[in-house]
Amino acid sequence: MKQQTMKAGVLTGPQRIEIRQVPVPEVTPGMLKIRVAACGVCGSDIHMWKAGKGWSQDPVDSFHMGHEFCGVVVDPGDSHFQIGDRVTFWANLYCGQCDMYLAGREHLCREVHGTNYIGFVCNGGYAEYFVGRARNAYKLPDAVSDVAAGLIDPLMVAYHAARQSSLKLHDKVLVVGSGIIAQLICGLVKKAGASCLAMSRVDDRQMGKARELGDVDIYFDGNAPDRAAAMQEASAGGFDVVFEAVGSGDALAACMDGVRPGGEIVLIGNSMTPEIPFALNRAVLHEIRLTGSVSCTRKEFAETIDLIATGLMDVERYVTDILPLDQLQHAFEKQIDPAGHVLKTVIRP
Ligand SMILES: [Zn+2]
Repeated sequence: MKQQTMKAGVLTGPQRIEIRQVPVPEVTPGMLKIRVAACGVCGSDIHMWKAGKGWSQDPVDSFHMGHEFCGVVVDPGDSHFQIGDRVTFWANLYCGQCDMYLAGREHLCREVHGTNYIGFVCNGGYAEYFVGRARNAYKLPDAVSDVAAGLIDPLMVAYHAARQSSLKLHDKVLVVGSGIIAQLICGLVKKAGASCLAMSRVDDRQMGKARELGDVDIYFDGNAPDRAAAMQEASAGGFDVVFEAVGSGDALAACMDGVRPGGEIVLIGNSMTPEIPFALNRAVLHEIRLTGSVSCTRKEFAETIDLIATGLMDVERYVTDILPLDQLQHAFEKQIDPAGHVLKTVIRP
């Protein structure tokens, strides 16, 4: 029998995606096959696109990214899913055996290392079909649209970060960054009862969407020389909780400028260099708590779907671009274009 083929957005080199016909993977035990309906474009995809390769040590055939996707089951394999079920995949390829997994902290699985995800080390959702582990699939309620499902992944990151924090009703919150994670955190912490919500940003690319969403009370210019004074004055002595959603030395310095003594900085941004400078003594002398945050637990992933299904978060409001698979290369170019004003792109293969 001739092997079935499908269209996929194959990463063929630095900043180069080509639409190619590639084989549809076989459904082996424990796997299921979906017809992909939507796949969100993530900042980590941009990093791989720039590098022209995924994270796997072993080259993946016709490598295509995409880890924020959903679709309709066309072959459930030996799983409990039915043909026609709408599902999304949690990208985390946890081992299912280690101490972190057994403690319900699958996101800290000792086999994952922050990179062992679908679309990073194996082929992902920028294709017509996807075959993956059934235990990573979650049924989508009717109330979660295909496009909304493309935002489950960034929303889970924002949700876990908010839960990792010590945030309490009436706290003053500063979010450093203006990308999709930063803006979803703003949406969540406003609903969680922040009395004053501020955002520090270094350019205005995503400000139109932020103002339209309307959660942020105060905007700071992250490039301003008097940044620290402006933050301390506007918050009457500093913010209780600060979220770093950039992953740079300057963004972390902005967090230190804004946090109150005894306050907390939640670290979400991934740095592109292994080390960044940090004002250690200020953190020690002001008893600043630094809290790391990555991905979310398996339980929180299911809860994230629920945040959308119950209407608590209307994530479709965050989408700026919906494009077909044929325009994947254009979607990536637009994402890095300062004139692009992209907050979130969802691809419809
Ligand atoms: Zn594990």
